[in-house]
Amino acid sequence: MPMYTSTRGGGEPLNAAKAIIKGIADDKGLYVPLQIPKLPVPADVMAGLHYREVATIVLKAFFDDFTDEEIGACVKGAYDSKFAREEIVPIAKVTGEVPAYFLELYHGKTAAFKDMALSILPYLLTTSMKKENEQAQIAILTATSGDTGKAALEGFADVPGTQIIVFFPEEGVSEVQKRQMITQEGANTHVFAIRGNFDDAQTGVKNIFADNDFADALLEKGYKLSSANSINIGRLVPQVAYYVYAYAKMVEVGEIRPGDPINVTVPTGNFGNILAAYYAKQMGVPIAKFICASNENKVLTDFFETGVYNKDRVFHTTNSPSMDILISSNLERLLYHLSGMNGEEVRGYMKDLDEKKQYEISEKIREGLKDFRGGYADEQDTLQAIGDVYDKFGYLMDTHTGVAYSVYRKYVQETGDRTKTIIASTASPYKFAKAVSDGIGLDMEPSDFQYIVALRKESGVEVPEGLRDLEKKEVLHPDVIGVEQMADFVWNCLE
Ligand SMILES: *Cc1c(COP(=O)(O)O)cnc(C)c1O
Repeated sequence: MPMYTSTRGGGEPLNAAKAIIKGIADDKGLYVPLQIPKLPVPADVMAGLHYREVATIVLKAFFDDFTDEEIGACVKGAYDSKFAREEIVPIAKVTGEVPAYFLELYHGKTAAFKDMALSILPYLLTTSMKKENEQAQIAILTATSGDTGKAALEGFADVPGTQIIVFFPEEGVSEVQKRQMITQEGANTHVFAIRGNFDDAQTGVKNIFADNDFADALLEKGYKLSSANSINIGRLVPQVAYYVYAYAKMVEVGEIRPGDPINVTVPTGNFGNILAAYYAKQMGVPIAKFICASNENKVLTDFFETGVYNKDRVFHTTNSPSMDILISSNLERLLYHLSGMNGEEVRGYMKDLDEKKQYEISEKIREGLKDFRGGYADEQDTLQAIGDVYDKFGYLMDTHTGVAYSVYRKYVQETGDRTKTIIASTASPYKFAKAVSDGIGLDMEPSDFQYIVALRKESGVEVPEGLRDLEKKEVLHPDVIGVEQMADFVWNCLE
């Protein structure tokens, strides 16, 4: 029976519903299952199942305080015709000297992989509130590097009993991402640009969570805070499902035999997506290597090489903005598991990170990281990868996926490892239309929106519905605020 405990060792373990409502533990740790459950049958036996069926199996294993009906209703509500593809997550195979299988996680409403978890989180949360007889309204605080914000807004818009508040870095998101957020409709939606980068936004949100007086005052008004970031276990678990599904699908179409190992390559920012792959392996999916791809903000590449996590470095704004992150929150969960669930040890690392801007992991954890391999691609490598794959195979990928492909290609050249590899394809190329157009050598255009038109004409790839006519939508959230004002704005929008 999975119960959820804080990575920093504080408090009593909670059931899933309570952990989802809280979002983050009182000691600022993240909730993790005391034990990662095993799949009831091997992943290859799930060959032929629909995505919804696989997701149901995975969610049931983690959230065993939910009834079958509850899980069923959540899955059915989330993974429906909101997704542009009936199969929810198609896999595109690109052959050539370095074959790759792109797991297209971006066919949801907001055209990025965040939809995979944020289409279901509102259902999981409202179900949890009902189960726990929660009387307060839940105010979801979200820091975003661009994609989480829109996906959370879309998921929670007009969901009864909730308010959704999003902070994004004013200069740190693409034109399309920004436009998607500031035009969001829904009476319970609140969006603020902040003067700072993603880490500032994330730290600001974590500080608000840590302020007990603020929480007490909000409760007087009838609100509790929760999180839609991948620090919420209700966001992480639905992401495990697509790795299980991908394995089953590879067996189904004959790309691998049951039991064959696969590798995964994941373009990484906050470490949620790749951690979900690690959970899938613990559940029983035969994943050999986790290739963790970063852009110029390569804290993780250095970490896997040296065992030292050092955030004290220049922050780069890149053409893969959703990965412009120096503090990868979910790494804390992996450290917890690999330390043998030593909350005190993890608390020490996080304290060092706070006070000394770095920490060095134990030999034991280093040993546990041997299946992980870090690598990074700079902006030029990324554009090159996008251009090469488009020229040779006619396959169009976004910049984040371009980072992943570039790192993967280098990995294969360096190691000769020919294990079939799933590449997490995390966004529609149209979300980053300017950089992608640059990558495939299109002419300059005056705005992202004109790039969308040009890219459509060149590639023939359909523009996701949510990105059509975006420039014509009315701006409903024009505020730009300072980081020190975040708590005030939260207070004021919860009336
Ligand atoms: C969020 C995001 C990432 C990074 O995922 P993490 O789970 O934060 O590591 C990569 N690519 C895109 C397009 C994203 O939106």
